[in-house]
Amino acid sequence: MNNRMIFLGPPGSGKGTQAGRIAKTLNIPHIDTGSMLREEIASGSEEGKTAESFMSQGQLAPVELVIKIIKNRLSRPDTLDGFILDGFPRSLEQAEGLDKILVEISQKIDFVFNIDLSENALIDRMAYRRSCSNCGEKFNLKLNPPAENGTCSICGEELTRRSDDNVETAVKRIGTYKKETAPLINYYKGKKLLVDINGNREISKIFNEIMDKLGIKTSSL
Ligand code: AMP
Repeated sequence: MNNRMIFLGPPGSGKGTQAGRIAKTLNIPHIDTGSMLREEIASGSEEGKTAESFMSQGQLAPVELVIKIIKNRLSRPDTLDGFILDGFPRSLEQAEGLDKILVEISQKIDFVFNIDLSENALIDRMAYRRSCSNCGEKFNLKLNPPAENGTCSICGEELTRRSDDNVETAVKRIGTYKKETAPLINYYKGKKLLVDINGNREISKIFNEIMDKLGIKTSSL
């Protein structure tokens, strides 16, 4: 099996879009800690309230909460044929926590895709990012616009903008990425798992390159 992956990259690099497409194509779970934390906030729990106070400042949510969420999710049987971790791990402490969980569940990571993009492009991407309030489909008003402005092309519902996609918070999130997450590039390089992907290209080209690295011919799909 080659289907256990981590998608690494700064906020706005397009890793969520690629992770979603690859997961759908391979029929494996897309485990996205940002969305899971937003669900925790929406549930109104105390943990969600604490997480929100960090997220609204562009900082990382508490490591204990994120590890708990990932441990629960990876122990579900639908991960046995593979999974994509999107936005996790985001610090060395989280990566070491993941290593422990993987030993406990007798799993290992096959690939870490590092999707990168220049800083100016990241802020631009976040500013134009929208997602469907109903089905979660992601759009970018410049790069991947919906057929009709403000409405989801899949289900017709209203598109919304994440509260942390404003320029001020976006800049802080990039700062957090550089300080906390970028060291993971060397961590996974050392484990010979890292695959660098240039994120400054069309969505379909990046998708095809990732599939190619996974050894899957897109023409055969
Ligand atoms: P994302 O949807 O991946 O851009 O994440 C949105 C926000 O959720 C981040 O800016 C963090 O505040 C928080 N978050 C997501 N994943 C993690 C994680 N693995 N560890 C800590 N905080 C996270």
